[in-house]
Amino acid sequence: MARLTIRNVSKTFGTSFAVRDFSLDVEDGELVCLLGPSGSGKSTLLRMIGGFEQPSGGSILIDAKDVTALPPEKRPTGMVFQSHALWTHMDVFNNIAFGLKLRRLPKAEIRERVENALALVGLADYGRRMTTQLSGGQQQRVALARSLVLEPKILLLDEPFASLDQHLRERLREEVRDIQQRVGITTLFVTHGQDEALALADRIVVMRDGSTEQIAPPDIVYREPQTEFVAGFIGSMN
Ligand code: ADP
Ligand code: MG
Repeated sequence: MARLTIRNVSKTFGTSFAVRDFSLDVEDGELVCLLGPSGSGKSTLLRMIGGFEQPSGGSILIDAKDVTALPPEKRPTGMVFQSHALWTHMDVFNNIAFGLKLRRLPKAEIRERVENALALVGLADYGRRMTTQLSGGQQQRVALARSLVLEPKILLLDEPFASLDQHLRERLREEVRDIQQRVGITTLFVTHGQDEALALADRIVVMRDGSTEQIAPPDIVYREPQTEFVAGFIGSMN
């Protein structure tokens, strides 16, 4: 049984489809990139998996349990957005601890888990900094730690590095790949960057107009692109 099953999911806004009859199985520990141009339905799909948007049709299963009607806080998913929305009036430690406090965990356990999460993202000594003192890349690392500390079964990342410069983006995607493999967490990574998907993914889902155009591992997508979106990019590299 797959960790995540998306079964014939659609989402309409008014009369137009943002996502159309989309199906996908994601295996435990897999990193899948949802790749496509702006407006192809990537974020809408990710938000439906996280519970921030209700499908117009179809169902979403996590470990064979139907979660389609559950709100975000009842799902075993963690989401990181492009704009990280950290709290500016709290230090790094408390940003990450917030969700654990809501769960009323013992203080010592909260401390240990936050410290582990900070170490995982390479910010071991940053707990007492205010988030406003951090660089953009460091802030996204905090956002990632804030998700991971809750030990979700599935990590959902929506263009987390889109606002950062190219060099930092490349470094952070290596870090994400490294963290993802160490934790072994099933991950969906949304991007409009062909290079990012080709570098990161176990499998790439190329989307257009809310539908799938190609699903394949990066080497196949690279060698036999079935979409102009990827073929054009590869052409421009050579
Ligand atoms: P992507 O993340 O690939 O850029 P989105 O999922 O954001 O694509 O959007 C897919 C389509 O759905 C777009 O045409 C967008 O305009 C439309 N859309 C997304 N969210 C809404 C909304 N809340 N209301 C109306 N249309 C929306
Ligand atoms: Mg988007």
